[in-house]
Amino acid sequence: MTAHRDEHLELCAGLLLGALDAADRAELEAHLAGGCAVCDGELARLSQSVELLAYSLPQQAPPAALRSRVLAAVQAAAAAEPRGASAPATAPDPRAARVIELPRRQSNFAAWGWAAAAAALAIASFVTWRQANDMRSQLAAARAQADSLQHQLADERQWAALEVAPQAKVVALAPTPAGAVQLAAHMTFDPATRRGVFVSDSMVAPAGHDYELWAISKSGPVSLGVVRADSSGRVRVRIADCGDPATLGAFAISLEAAGGAPTRNAPGGPVVMVGKIAG
Ligand SMILES: [Zn+2]
Repeated sequence: MTAHRDEHLELCAGLLLGALDAADRAELEAHLAGGCAVCDGELARLSQSVELLAYSLPQQAPPAALRSRVLAAVQAAAAAEPRGASAPATAPDPRAARVIELPRRQSNFAAWGWAAAAAALAIASFVTWRQANDMRSQLAAARAQADSLQHQLADERQWAALEVAPQAKVVALAPTPAGAVQLAAHMTFDPATRRGVFVSDSMVAPAGHDYELWAISKSGPVSLGVVRADSSGRVRVRIADCGDPATLGAFAISLEAAGGAPTRNAPGGPVVMVGKIAG
């Protein structure tokens, strides 16, 4: 193998940029064929940047004409340099000839080659930075989503816990004389959280009507909202705040015109179900 020289590092950059002439390429390949840890390391380091560049800018490949122009300019500059008396083709000892001409040509190549390599590295750094930025915002979005899911899960757990909480009160609602006999429902109410779950499977409202749920306290009824069942009469509604447990006395259902009672403080239609909260 040929011994490692600093010029080989510049040839490595040129190789990756596709900027070596046949002679330089042959020399570098001969050197690399013998194995050189320094050059191998440099090639690995530079190719990473070049790969990143190629990978991240797939639609911005430079036009072939630009590359030809740059190479032509470099070759013209190299040709303008005095090359000494003997051309490589006729030199009896090509190696001797190269030893003389290498420093001048290399310095010329180095100026261009290293500038290009530096530009590639700078762009690669920018691309890496941009990718890291994208990744950071993706990560932040994923975290926000995870947080939101965790809140939802915690909320679901609380609602599920409500129905088996020892302090929860289960209030059975039975039909009044104004209500159909098949009506039945129950309300599970947690005085600690004021939450409630209303459940029924017999609440098919007559056409043009809605059922409305009421909390009846000492100060009068307060609407807990319209309760709409599916076509088979099943309904399950969560009530975030049923009211003050100290004054709450009963829950009731009224039959209203579609959309519910005109006011939140009094049923507009007949009360069809009622259930007292046990003391
Ligand atoms: Zn080397």
